Amino acid sequence: MNEEHERLRKELPEYSKYGAKLDRAIELVLRGGIKEIRFLPSGRTVLTAVGRLGDEFMDPKRPYCSCSNFFFGFLEGKEGVCYHLLGYEVASRVKRVDAVQFSDEEYIPYVRAVIGDVFDVLEGGGG
Ligand SMILES: [Zn+2]
Repeated sequence: MNEEHERLRKELPEYSKYGAKLDRAIELVLRGGIKEIRFLPSGRTVLTAVGRLGDEFMDPKRPYCSCSNFFFGFLEGKEGVCYHLLGYEVASRVKRVDAVQFSDEEYIPYVRAVIGDVFDVLEGGGG
């Protein structure tokens, strides 16, 4: 765990209850893994987390994440927060959401690529 990681942990005492999940979330944030992709000129945005096994779609407002942890946790009625969604919360708080711009023509290929990753991970049983 590096200094920056320790510092973020101290800045966010209210998240300490998440334990190891918070550490994974902070790692994700520190390597720029929380991305807000804005497609132009339409202005629509997609939030993704670049996990170890591929990208995941997130919608923190619902909340929703395409990863298997969120999916199975949800089915079992557990807390609806995976380390990606937690990472998004952390990144928003410390202004570390990586803003990326793509053109609208890239929307479909991009979404298709992320969905491909999502299925690969789900079918491989990872997360
Ligand atoms: Zn997730």
